[in-house]
Amino acid sequence: MRPFAYVKPSDVDGAVQAVAADSGAKFLGGGTNLVDLMREGIERPYTVVDVTGLPLDEVTALPGGGLRIGALVRNSTLAADHLVRARYPVLSQAILAGASAQLRNMATVGGNLLQRTRCPYFYDQASACNKREPGAGCDALGGLNRSHAILGVSESCIATHPSDMCVALVALEAVVEARSVRGTRRIPLADFHRPPGDTPHVETVLAADELITAVELPEAPAHSRYRKVRDRASYAFALVSVAAAVEVRDGSISDVRLALGGVATTPWRAREAERILRGGPITEEAFRRAAEAELAPATVRPGNAFKAGLARATIVATLRELTTGGGAE
Ligand code: SF4
Repeated sequence: MRPFAYVKPSDVDGAVQAVAADSGAKFLGGGTNLVDLMREGIERPYTVVDVTGLPLDEVTALPGGGLRIGALVRNSTLAADHLVRARYPVLSQAILAGASAQLRNMATVGGNLLQRTRCPYFYDQASACNKREPGAGCDALGGLNRSHAILGVSESCIATHPSDMCVALVALEAVVEARSVRGTRRIPLADFHRPPGDTPHVETVLAADELITAVELPEAPAHSRYRKVRDRASYAFALVSVAAAVEVRDGSISDVRLALGGVATTPWRAREAERILRGGPITEEAFRRAAEAELAPATVRPGNAFKAGLARATIVATLRELTTGGGAE
């Protein structure tokens, strides 16, 4: 690991000024991803600005029914928060489906938004990887790509976005608040992560000197749920996951928000499926039609072709659970 300077500011202004003054600086939250990447020589900051002493660790109810989540709230704290459990079960379920208890105790909400792919070629310095080294090529395209994405891919990168929490947050229409020396801005989470295109190393719209300070949720949906399919029962990334929020009125779906994980290069808002479902009947046939339409543009490879069918089945099962009371929360 390259030697680096370490600073630990006590206020947000000090943190953003420290990074603005040093183009080789990185913010450090829980460190559950950044420290791994530094050990592997993939991230090589000259200065680490530890933000864990900043007063950004509270969950507060907003007037009007929403929720403000400080960027330094630990994942385990957020999953256990009584307001989250009562109003946004999809978020609590998604967090508890991710990583291990030890990692959830360390990982922060802001860091979770910025975690990088677990594509094994990205971590292997002997492999070609456009995300690690722009222009180098992508060994996953013709290699082992069972865990890779089928939506939002490009010929430069097919890496899957790894987060469970972000999938729930996209379905909940979360907004990210970011601060820099230029001021504060708000970014809808659906616009926060960038598909790879021909610049897969650029993963978000956040500037290098911007610090995530909070995530805000609008008023909670009536029913929401997270379902994750993976190779083993815990400590595994999603093969497919579905976050769903549904409103039912007079026997039809009056509103629906759907997001997919494990199949896309970004936390994937399933807008085509939503369009078909909204205002329609609560039937298996309608759920299947919506799932088919969402997966129609999928680009599959021999290793990951199974994901399209698995995603369709998981969408249908999640919607069935939510709308028939089988597990609705
Ligand atoms: Fe790198 Fe993306 Fe290819 Fe993986 S899929 S090797 S992260 S360019």
